[in-house]
Amino acid sequence: MSVEIQNAQSAIAKVNLMGLSEEKMVAFFESLGEKRFRATQVLKWIHQMGVIDFDDMSNISKALRARLKDVAEMRLPEVLEQHDSADGTRKFLIKVDGGSAIETVFIPDGERGTLCVSSQIGCSLDCSFCATGKQGFNRDLTAAEIIGQVWIAAKSFGQFGEKRPRIITNVVMMGMGEPLLNFHNVVDSMNLMMHDNCYCISKRRVTLSTSGVVPALDKLGELTDVCLAISLHAPNDELRNELVPINKKYPIAMLLDSAQRYIEGLPDNHRKVTIEYTLIGGVNDRPHHAHELAELLRDVPVKINLIPFNPFSLSDYKRVSNNAMRTFQEILTKAGYIATVRTTRGDDIDAACGQLAGAVNDRTRRAERYRAMSAQVDKLEENLLARTPEEAIKFVAQ
Ligand code: SF4
Repeated sequence: MSVEIQNAQSAIAKVNLMGLSEEKMVAFFESLGEKRFRATQVLKWIHQMGVIDFDDMSNISKALRARLKDVAEMRLPEVLEQHDSADGTRKFLIKVDGGSAIETVFIPDGERGTLCVSSQIGCSLDCSFCATGKQGFNRDLTAAEIIGQVWIAAKSFGQFGEKRPRIITNVVMMGMGEPLLNFHNVVDSMNLMMHDNCYCISKRRVTLSTSGVVPALDKLGELTDVCLAISLHAPNDELRNELVPINKKYPIAMLLDSAQRYIEGLPDNHRKVTIEYTLIGGVNDRPHHAHELAELLRDVPVKINLIPFNPFSLSDYKRVSNNAMRTFQEILTKAGYIATVRTTRGDDIDAACGQLAGAVNDRTRRAERYRAMSAQVDKLEENLLARTPEEAIKFVAQ
């Protein structure tokens, strides 16, 4: 067997400690015949001190370090590009195993800094307004790749070590992918974000955003108590079926019931569900949509985040006008809701989700297929329009 193959095999066999939850880390050390406290030591080194070289773990004996090097590693995804916007937004383009790229975005806001983390490469849910959805689905990210995004960002801000200022104060699972479809890796990663021996981010500052995978949302409350955001984007099922196709399986009423159960099950029952509503010009931004939304959410404790649609090349949707956005917000505010408008950040670095990775990497060639399909539909339309109604019926029947 060649040295290269031997090296490759031993690399595959190594356990990547980067994404191990506390329980899994304890189980790993117990499997080596070591005490539980070793798990705490290593968690602190990796996620509190930012150390990913066993030789720098000074409170671990030389013999154990040597053993660890044989059986374990702390492997991070690779940063391909870092873009810094004039407004302080920082975007990372990150290469994961298999060569695909994902995105992680840091958005500063006064004292707060929010990191938007991806959970999948691409997404299978194909929401009609989403650049990530147009790339199709490649695979789930591992827990190491999810928490690795937080590690990479923390490192870039010099946040590791004792008495360093906390730059990343909030995390939102709102990047590429549907987090509830990568359930266990996402839950493990969020628990590491909140763990006292890791990033120690308050459970009120870690938010999972879902488009509505109801059975997984029902299960989430048994395992964690992070904040919840629902990607709603429409005030009725007819429109939501078009914008967020998973709605056909889990309609709005079912989703809001599940969200309410989740919130009511939290130990502190003052939290609200964040409703994300992307305003798309001429599609879901009319005053009657705002009134319908206000009526729909009457019995759910919510705050509403209005997000102006950010146009991208594969979408025909238009940006919402400032007037329409203001009117929409006013209707909700008058109806008694907290309704904020998410300001567009990082315009100069394509910070909207999926844009950068989509431009770099379209492994499923979905964008290509999508373009080809759209061209075919356009051609068919042209053909039909050029015929009389009778000819058109005959043409379709052929
Ligand atoms: S909006 Fe979210 S769930 Fe929908 S396609 Fe995009 S990444 Fe997937």
